[in-house]
Amino acid sequence: MTGSLYAAVAARLPADRSRPVLETPDGHVLTWGDLDAETARLANALTGLGLGPGDRVAVRAEKSPRQLMLYLACLRAGLVYLPMNTAYHRDEVDYLVGNAEPGLIVCDPAAEDEVREIAADHGKIPVLTLDPHGDGSLWARGAEASPVFATVDCAADDLACIVYTSGTTGRPKGAMLSHGNLVSNAEALIATWGFTADDVLLHALPLFHAHGLFVACHCALLSGARMIWLNKFTPDAAIAQIPRATAFMGVPTLYTRLLADPRLTRNLCRTMRVFISGSAPLLAETWRSFEDRTGHGIVERYGMTETVMNTSNPLHGERRAGSVGPPLPGVEVRVVDDEGAAVEGGAMGAVQVRGPNVFSGYWRMPEKTAEEFTTDGWFRTGDIGLIDADGYLHLVGRAKDLIITGGYNVYPKEVETVIDRIDGVEESAVIGVPDADFGEAVTAVVVPQGDASVTEAAVIATVKDAIANYKVPKRVHVVDALPRNAMGKVQKNVLRERFGK
Ligand code: AMP
Repeated sequence: MTGSLYAAVAARLPADRSRPVLETPDGHVLTWGDLDAETARLANALTGLGLGPGDRVAVRAEKSPRQLMLYLACLRAGLVYLPMNTAYHRDEVDYLVGNAEPGLIVCDPAAEDEVREIAADHGKIPVLTLDPHGDGSLWARGAEASPVFATVDCAADDLACIVYTSGTTGRPKGAMLSHGNLVSNAEALIATWGFTADDVLLHALPLFHAHGLFVACHCALLSGARMIWLNKFTPDAAIAQIPRATAFMGVPTLYTRLLADPRLTRNLCRTMRVFISGSAPLLAETWRSFEDRTGHGIVERYGMTETVMNTSNPLHGERRAGSVGPPLPGVEVRVVDDEGAAVEGGAMGAVQVRGPNVFSGYWRMPEKTAEEFTTDGWFRTGDIGLIDADGYLHLVGRAKDLIITGGYNVYPKEVETVIDRIDGVEESAVIGVPDADFGEAVTAVVVPQGDASVTEAAVIATVKDAIANYKVPKRVHVVDALPRNAMGKVQKNVLRERFGK
């Protein structure tokens, strides 16, 4: 039996191919028949460029239904899909292209010149375009190609995707996910959340992250459910579509934005079956306000790029505010002490995960991979948590000082490196401080050199030019010196306390 994720999607193809699989608010409908034909055309176009199993296809384009078809076409042809955050700047794209060596880059037409320069620097990689309407030079080829393609047979442990996640050293690492990782996790989530062909999922998340690409799309596609597709989340667009949907997935920021709108009511949510949250901590306060307003207790789950999803609150049974729930079927989660021994009785420790969902390693970083796995195969998540008496996991912090802002990860080191390069800056420390809208707001604390003048505006402007917008500090505080412990380490907890109010 093939292990291909596309084969698992194709197994859901209904007898009636005119059934919609996806529709947009402006009336565009994609049927299951369209999905079959479009992914075949794109798979033919890609293989027509000489791409074969294992070759990477890097995609940095605005979200569109056709981008989802491109993802599926890559899996169908045995190619490795590599999504890039649309907020990445030139240097970030350049690094990823150099590291992953894709056989093709697909980008927005607006970024074509820049991406072509990068592609030329890395050995003349072909570049095709894909705009938010699905048009561009990729589809020009796809439209000409045959709508029939024999899905490439692949094993469960064949590589399906490489998804980059920021490293603590500032350099992103490519997490290698197999078809088996993705299929097994989709099946566990569908069983846990009760997805069926009668569901209508309101899809409002980006497509370059595990949440929108894997969790949302796979739950819909592998259960035969329909998607209402928003290229971008806005409260207006979501509120207009909620009465037609049965399921919604969001990062906590989307829930606080919905709550800020008085149109979010119990009546608005009358067709809804389940609201799911993840990617960053959902405040217990938000959970309770949402339940008061809509009657729905949000199902919070926990996962990461390297492992897809690990735990979820139950659909039936108690959903606990402030907890990410018990492990998913087939997934093992444990909490260990500093010596690596599993702890029990609700003690806090490092969270480790093992199971068919866990990735095989970081692309071309065997040492980094070895560091993150124990000898008996547990992945060190970097999260700190505890398991309560009922087996529910509670996350209490992050070992590596990761900042999560609006659902996106920011590693302080990367931002600090950019700030420290600014003329007149001696050193800097970047922290996350609680923020009602973003969960955490990136905040920089900067020490000037001698008498040099360093302003908040100048630091923000420089960082903005260098890296993706979501990583840019919302506030910059200028201080004489950073607090340090006896070992010379900057005490970020002291800074969080001082500037976190
Ligand atoms: P990413 O690789 O971008 O998906 O980020 C993974 C990290 O997000 C995890 O290691 C956690 O620190 C955090 N995370 C994901 N889901 C949750 C959640 N429900 N509550 C708290 N943190 C979460």
